[in-house]
Amino acid sequence: MKAHDGMYIDGAWRPAAGGELIDVVNPADGQVIASVPAGTEGDVDAAVRAARAALPGWAATPPAERAALVGALRDVLVARQDELADTITAELGAPLAFAKAVHVGGAAAVTSSFVELAASYSFEERIGNSTVLLEPVGVVAAITPWNYPLYQIVAKVAPALAAGCTLVLKPAEDTPLTAQLFAEAVHEAGVPAGVFNLVTGTGPVAGQALAAHEGVDLVSFTGSTAVGRKIGATAGAAVKRVALELGGKSANVVLPGADLAKAVATGVGHVMANTGQRCNALTRMLVHRDQYEEAVSLAAAAVEKYPSGDPREEGTRLGPVVNAQQHERVLGYIARGIEEGARLVAGGPEAPHAQGYFVAPTVFADVTPEMAIAQEEIFGPVLSILPYEDEEEALRIANGTVYGLGGAVWAADEETAVAFARRMVTGQVDINGGRYNVLAPFGGHKQSGVGRELGSHGLAEYLQTKSLQF
Ligand code: NAD
Repeated sequence: MKAHDGMYIDGAWRPAAGGELIDVVNPADGQVIASVPAGTEGDVDAAVRAARAALPGWAATPPAERAALVGALRDVLVARQDELADTITAELGAPLAFAKAVHVGGAAAVTSSFVELAASYSFEERIGNSTVLLEPVGVVAAITPWNYPLYQIVAKVAPALAAGCTLVLKPAEDTPLTAQLFAEAVHEAGVPAGVFNLVTGTGPVAGQALAAHEGVDLVSFTGSTAVGRKIGATAGAAVKRVALELGGKSANVVLPGADLAKAVATGVGHVMANTGQRCNALTRMLVHRDQYEEAVSLAAAAVEKYPSGDPREEGTRLGPVVNAQQHERVLGYIARGIEEGARLVAGGPEAPHAQGYFVAPTVFADVTPEMAIAQEEIFGPVLSILPYEDEEEALRIANGTVYGLGGAVWAADEETAVAFARRMVTGQVDINGGRYNVLAPFGGHKQSGVGRELGSHGLAEYLQTKSLQF
């Protein structure tokens, strides 16, 4: 695969300061497909300086002009969708059709939403004898994970650009090629030099240097809760703004009277999408005792519809997990579920293919709330089904983890589902299969994070107020 051997800084690809490289591996066969430079503190410093220098000009650019450039960026992403999807399939292992429709399609939809918001948002408000100016926060450090490599970048870059901020992006080690293509798209769209900069590299070196850099005003991080905690501490010590989009262990609550077959099929689909590598995956399904065995059989049958295999082949619906370490981690959780006494009803620890980091779509029944597979984020195609006696118990189980990112409720009617959803401690709840909304705020309660992405709430993260009194 094509890779740049430099960093995108101040509008051009510049040689990396150090000589170390990061290999990019195709998880479907374990082969190295490219390598990119591992950024150093020096690269980060050059990128932050470029972003600082570009800030006054970009912040003063009228919102309509900024919106037009975000629109141009969206157009380039759409024009290059095949190349982007190919790259995401190669470095992440997402099935090609899914990469195109969801990874690239979703990123284009998010970018579009900020074209409209940038043009229509009111960057000024009147409160009594004051005019409140909503001004860009400044230089943003964007640190992103590999699970939706393009979408996670866009969910930060599009609102930051719309708000008038400049950025330095440090993408995940596993998926830097998508980030390099994104930088090409920014360049092609005509975004002025220095407004967007890319430094590839490892978390502990380039990521840490970026989060700690005194020229950064806001650190916007998406990734694990463990790393988020460190970044929060670094940003807090420097009194920098911080947004943290972290892990999850979301509950899918099926109340009596719901359409059980639909709830189970949709729930299984939600967990298998992107091979379970989703922060808001509905990995805990809660079903009333009376319908429990029926739900377990339906789920065991539903995973048959997710054949794993070469992500470039048409019939494949489940790709590999991203790397060897994640593979081991997910298999470790499956082993732990068996050890702790859960009943394996589909999948399990056996490798479905001779090569690549594949995990069989797995369903556990008789899962109790304290088991590791019910508490911890697995980030793989593993569903746990838990029984409950009554609504109060269902609520206790649903709210009984350190996380609070996504969730779902199925009931006979919307009113019952909404009444339950109001009592859930989580950032998003899908009601009777409600669809994803690109304008709805996305983010966590509890240890799932701080701050919101998407829509006007997401844009507000990149703004700060200045009040003028008259
Ligand atoms: P990760 O935390 O290992 O890495 C995320 C990013 O942080 C990467 O770019 C990495 O290089 C960087 N990083 C690592 N250590 C760092 C450090 N010390 N300082 C600065 N940066 C550092 O996460 P991951 O494995 O890439 O992604 C999976 C995790 O992301 C899961 O926990 C998932 O739930 C979470 N996630 C959350 C959301 C959300 O919106 N809440 C979305 C997607 C993924």
